Amino acid sequence: MQRLLAGNWKMNGLHAALAEIRALTRAFVKEHPPASLLICPPATLIAEAVAAAGGSPIAIGGQDCHALPSGAYTGNISAEMLRDAGATFVIVGHSERRHYHGETNLAVAAKAKAARRAGLTAILCVGENETDRDAGRALAVVTTQLKSSIPEDSTAADLVVAYEPVWAIGTGRNATSAQIGEMHEAVREALAARFGEAGRKIRILYGGSVKPENAKEILETPNVDGALIGGASLKASDFLAIVRACPVR
Ligand code: PEP
Repeated sequence: MQRLLAGNWKMNGLHAALAEIRALTRAFVKEHPPASLLICPPATLIAEAVAAAGGSPIAIGGQDCHALPSGAYTGNISAEMLRDAGATFVIVGHSERRHYHGETNLAVAAKAKAARRAGLTAILCVGENETDRDAGRALAVVTTQLKSSIPEDSTAADLVVAYEPVWAIGTGRNATSAQIGEMHEAVREALAARFGEAGRKIRILYGGSVKPENAKEILETPNVDGALIGGASLKASDFLAIVRACPVR
């Protein structure tokens, strides 16, 4: 399967930031990327980002969605609305949503289900915090998150899993290749146990301070099918350097 390199802009980006998407679009006029590419800007920029990326291999996604298609939920955005704005992916269960908005595995599963209903691919995030890792509970925590937050009827076409150790997100700290490889193998086995052969085709991304300097080593780790990139996706030059460091499959 082709790798996926996904940028998560988080709550960053005013109108002027669309210039970064235009710069990426220009770069891929002549160059064929070695992976599928995705940028998830803030919801306010999705429709314009879709227009800016038009004709390029860059897909645009949302960073979160509500579980329901519409209703009296002030401030929320549904998966259908993201789709209507031109998004094709949505991140669900990011650790910042789990932490700052108290999202449970059950809530995350409902959002992943909503993504499927709307025709979006969900990027479902899982990952242990530092206390869990230090206590030797990382594998147990992540496999429990997976079990409880993946909807029953998910398929490789509508689901991507992102393993993001919380202690490595936005901190500049990196998980080692051994830690990444061990977790990605466990995630792969959990997906295969749940979905059979189809589970071997679900992409597993790594996220946590991925940058141009470490991207190649991370992406060469077995069972790493791409990356979810925060800080280093904000500048086209950094994101491009990561794309260029990605080994061809
Ligand atoms: C993220 O936002 O999911 C992330 C991994 O951020 P960063 O790359 O900045 O650590």
